[in-house]
Amino acid sequence: MYQFEYHRPKTVEEVTALLARCESPKILAGGMTLLATMKQRLAAPSDLIDLQDIPGISGISADAKNVTIGAMTRHADVASSKEVARAIPALAYLAGRIGDPLVRHRGTIGGSIANNDPAADYPAACLGLGASIVTNSREIPADDYFRGMFETALKDKEIILRIVFPIPQNAAYQKFPNPASRYAMVGAFVSRSAAGVRVAVTGAGPGVFRMTAMETALAKTFTPAALDGITAPIGEMLQDMHASGEYRASLIGVMAKRAVASLTG
Ligand SMILES: Cc1cc2nc3c(=O)[nH]c(=O)nc-3n(C[C@H](O)[C@H](O)[C@H](O)COP(=O)(O)OP(=O)(O)OC[C@H]3O[C@@H](n4cnc5c(N)ncnc54)[C@H](O)[C@@H]3O)c2cc1C
Repeated sequence: MYQFEYHRPKTVEEVTALLARCESPKILAGGMTLLATMKQRLAAPSDLIDLQDIPGISGISADAKNVTIGAMTRHADVASSKEVARAIPALAYLAGRIGDPLVRHRGTIGGSIANNDPAADYPAACLGLGASIVTNSREIPADDYFRGMFETALKDKEIILRIVFPIPQNAAYQKFPNPASRYAMVGAFVSRSAAGVRVAVTGAGPGVFRMTAMETALAKTFTPAALDGITAPIGEMLQDMHASGEYRASLIGVMAKRAVASLTG
């Protein structure tokens, strides 16, 4: 590591002031990604601004329409939340399958979607449920938020405060985890609501994306068989030491069918 200043502000206004004043600051949430990146010298912020003392940006609430999760809420708290289990059980299931116990007790939902790793799980839930990302300056629909590999609509120095998930009729998430990290080799989040069917895929491409052909097919007939023959373009898949593009494309169908099957019994 190298020299940097550590700050622990008590309000969002203080965070904003620090972000404006410091030379090349970074927000610190769970540190699961940021600290590792700094140790590898892939990031070298002048200042770390720790969000853990800010009131009102962690915790979970639910009403008849939405589940709202504060940005600093840890994955383990989403996984064990009674409100989430009651309203969107697929979201609790997804959070409980992120990484390992250490990652789930330190990592936060805000850090996850700010980082937007192409194999992360929460982006699939945000896109698959049509969530909104609320920052200190605006509300961004998930459809506009995720831009590609580690890229989002967040502006420099914008702070995620909470994520608002509309409650669907039902939803399911299935992932094929990388056996080492537990990140998604491919994950498919399927939801049904009055607004229609959504299928969001993570891990397969450079960023999370919707499978609109699957959504159209499922809107007509909500069965696993309705997805037969629907594939993603292999040339647009990620290829690495873990899996080829062909394998990832094939996993999309398998994971999406499993998710639909879990909802249709
Ligand atoms: C071994 C390991 C296994 C993992 N496995 C999985 C997995 O299976 N699935 C999965 O989805 N994820 C996985 N992760 C990622 C993990 O779940 C965290 O979500 C992720 O590391 C980032 O969250 P964090 O709270 O630690 O953020 P940090 O590391 O503190 O921050 C990450 C980035 O987000 C920015 N940031 C943080 N909070 C905010 C905010 N509120 N507003 C604006 N910007 C912000 C930071 O400045 C930084 O750039 C894994 C991580 C590790 C180390």
